[in-house]
Amino acid sequence: MNIEDYLLKNIGKLPAPMVAWVEKRMKKIPSIREKIDKEYDDMMAGLESSLKPYRDSYPTFTKLPAKGRDREEILHEMESLREREESVWKDGFVSGAVYHGDESHIEFLNRAYALNSQSNPLHSDVFPSTTKFEAEIVAMTANMLNGDTACGTVCSGGTEGIMLAMKTYRDWARDTKGIAHPEMIAPITAHAAFDKASQYFGIKMVKVPVDANSRADVNAVRRAINRNTVVIVGSAPSFPHGAIDPIEEMSELALQHNIGVHTDACLGGFVLPWAEKLGYNVPGFDFRLPGVTSISVDTHKYGYAAKGTSVILYRSKELRHYQYYTISDWPGGLYFSPTFAGSRPGALSAACWAALTSIGEQGYLDATKQILETADYIKTEIKKIPELEIIGDPLFVIAFKSDSLNIYKVLEAMGHHKWSLNGLHKPSCMHIALTLRHAQPGVKERFIADLKTAIDHVKGHPDEKGHMAPIYGMAATIPMRGLVSDMLKKYLDLIFKV
Ligand SMILES: *Cc1c(COP(=O)(O)O)cnc(C)c1O
Repeated sequence: MNIEDYLLKNIGKLPAPMVAWVEKRMKKIPSIREKIDKEYDDMMAGLESSLKPYRDSYPTFTKLPAKGRDREEILHEMESLREREESVWKDGFVSGAVYHGDESHIEFLNRAYALNSQSNPLHSDVFPSTTKFEAEIVAMTANMLNGDTACGTVCSGGTEGIMLAMKTYRDWARDTKGIAHPEMIAPITAHAAFDKASQYFGIKMVKVPVDANSRADVNAVRRAINRNTVVIVGSAPSFPHGAIDPIEEMSELALQHNIGVHTDACLGGFVLPWAEKLGYNVPGFDFRLPGVTSISVDTHKYGYAAKGTSVILYRSKELRHYQYYTISDWPGGLYFSPTFAGSRPGALSAACWAALTSIGEQGYLDATKQILETADYIKTEIKKIPELEIIGDPLFVIAFKSDSLNIYKVLEAMGHHKWSLNGLHKPSCMHIALTLRHAQPGVKERFIADLKTAIDHVKGHPDEKGHMAPIYGMAATIPMRGLVSDMLKKYLDLIFKV
């Protein structure tokens, strides 16, 4: 065995910082670089056909058409594309993604969008209707989360809300406490958007582990707090395993240290309040906990609005001020914006307002009941499958792993039955985020039947390696995380390839 192969084989036994060091140097060795590049190219070529299915059957543009195309022809083409793609989510084969999806609801949102398609909240003087819609979206969401004096803004999605909140804590701590090297504490299960905020805004990320039920380890949080801590993050619930962190204890800790607690209720904000009313056990997560200072909640998930809106809430106006941007000496005039964007799609806020007010409390209660009953069935049935184990005690995002089978092979086998579920790692598992699509008659039964068939298939074909399963497996276990990151960047390149 030559030295390169020896290193590749044994690198996993080294401590993480040494792996990073070796990796960096190995990638500079031309022969290794070549090997790696070749593997990337092969992998991307394999993915290209499934990611770019329309090259042969539809016109492709790499420059503007010399003369504009016929409008009807364009719309016809889009209709045909939608037709090809819609059954997989409409028939309930997808985890998350489309949370409502009823035809009449979609038609209604589209009409609300169309009526407002020229609106831009940046021009609040020209479009005061959008200002009204946004103020009321924030007020209704704050009220739902028991923040009767809370405030906030509408933003483009959960990621933006989280990033805005982290920037807000950084600036608040610098201004009120003189903290120059801010740190945030988050469980490893917190959404990737917190890491993104850490990178973008120079806030040190301090990760804490989770317990066997995938809830943040409060003792580790306590130990991680120091003079530079600005905020503690908890999820309600977390994206990977649907676990609700011990935010009650986080709230207590934060009050003792005069720091913030951000509840990431992107996923659960429009489910948990209704689950509680339906009698499910929902630990505290909202503004009733005195230490919770901000909450992100996605209207474009279980709020059933179209994609592109979310709400970021703060306990106080003082905190919200640290989110705003203002400039008073720009030749372009007095300029101010509440979020990262300048111009924004007022039509999306209008459609969001239409969703919230047309569904109402009773509608959300009914929707939550349907989803949680579907979840109860699926949890009960998975518990009867000896090969599988549910992680923690989730409400509506159900993650499961297997000690006896390669779970990524099960995931791939589910794909052959049309299912589009999420593969996760640390630990290796898969999940389904249940939506109203899964509450349609027959879907939950089909999910369990297909899961059993998939497990039988994997057990019956131990030699089958699969196509995606090895990629998941490698991505989950390879110690050289830089290589995995490079691979993801190549994947993004592929997405933007015509
Ligand atoms: C979806 C999600 C986010 C991020 O939301 P986007 O709308 O995709 O930007 C953040 N946190 C949790 C728990 C989520 O499920």
